[in-house]
Amino acid sequence: MPNLVLLGIQGSGKGTQAYLLKKNYGFDHLNIGSLLREEMKKKTDIGNDIKEYMLKGDLVPDKYIFSLVGPILHDNLKGVILDGFPRTLKQAEFLEKRMPVRCAIYFELDDKIAKERLSHRRVCQNCQQNYNLLLNDVKKDNKCSKCGNPLELRMDDNSEAINRRIAAFHDETKPVIEFFKDRDSLITIPATKKPEQIHQEIVYILGLAKPA
Ligand code: ADP
Ligand code: ZN
Repeated sequence: MPNLVLLGIQGSGKGTQAYLLKKNYGFDHLNIGSLLREEMKKKTDIGNDIKEYMLKGDLVPDKYIFSLVGPILHDNLKGVILDGFPRTLKQAEFLEKRMPVRCAIYFELDDKIAKERLSHRRVCQNCQQNYNLLLNDVKKDNKCSKCGNPLELRMDDNSEAINRRIAAFHDETKPVIEFFKDRDSLITIPATKKPEQIHQEIVYILGLAKPA
């Protein structure tokens, strides 16, 4: 199984596609944003240091990211989906030295639609499942349909932090897209298609075989 990188502006559906690939093909999903939120919850030294950046919607400095993901990345890893990493050129170079990646899949989406999606996103604080009010997948009781916990707005899904995260995407992560394009390993998919349709496209392009 190949290793994949998922790229795309906030709200472009990286997490949803990672979830489908994990569920249907057994990929491991490595979500760097979740890892960082875990550190904050556990109040580790890194967690305390990165809090300010995360709340504001700024990228966490590379040194913290490297100390978190460094021990995880190995050149013998297989079937891993990197979601939310790399987001800077330095991170892309760091990754390239440590682990082979078949391709990066870039979910292309306008800023305007991205902002709309984020402000309508709700997250289960218990199991981290994402929901979107625009897709009508939230029940009237505003509870997670998987575990029953109340859904909440993520701390950085307010308009100020959303704008800063989107700016960081353009300034810092766009060069990462070029990085993979230069290596002929970029696949671009419009993120406005339905999640299941995007999933089928990825499966087809990568020639994934259904697990027995
Ligand atoms: P989103 O993609 O919607 O911003 P994530 O959960 O992926 O949500 O990331 C949340 C926050 O975590 C980011 O705004 C940033 O502060 C931090 N973060 C996540 N991944 C990285 C990374 N690779 N480099 C630096 N900061 C990161
Ligand atoms: Zn839940």
